Amino acid sequence: MQQLPPDLVPTSYELDEDHALLHLSWSDGHESLHSYEALRRACPCAWCSGEGGFAGNMSATTPLSPEMVTLYELTMVGRYGLTPIWGDGHKTGIYTYERLRGMCECDECRLARADKQPA
Ligand SMILES: [Zn+2]
Ligand SMILES: [Zn+2]
Repeated sequence: MQQLPPDLVPTSYELDEDHALLHLSWSDGHESLHSYEALRRACPCAWCSGEGGFAGNMSATTPLSPEMVTLYELTMVGRYGLTPIWGDGHKTGIYTYERLRGMCECDECRLARADKQPA
C-alpha cells in the first residue's frame, strides 16, 4: 500500500446524488472520485470484509439494496480516515486516506494504476 505524506488529507467532500458519486478534495489539490457502490463493496469493517479467517458478508456479487449504496455523510476518524454513513445505517467501515486515494476512480489515477500493472 502506498504511503501518503502525513500532511495529505481530505479537505472537503461533496455528494453527487444524481450520479451516486463521492467527490473528495485533498490538500494537494487532487479531487478523488468514488462511486457509492464501489465504496460500499470495499467496506473494510469486519462484518463486510471478514476477520480472523471468517469470510465477510460483502463480496463483488453481494446484492445491494438502494439503501446500502446511499451515502448520507462522511465523518472523520481521528487524523487518518473517514467513515461513511450509509442509508441502511451501516457506519462501521473506516476507510484510511491511503485506501481512499488507492481506490480513486478519476481518469488520472486509473491510468496511473493501469501503468503499474502489466496488461
Ligand atoms: Zn462494513
Ligand atoms: Zn484520482
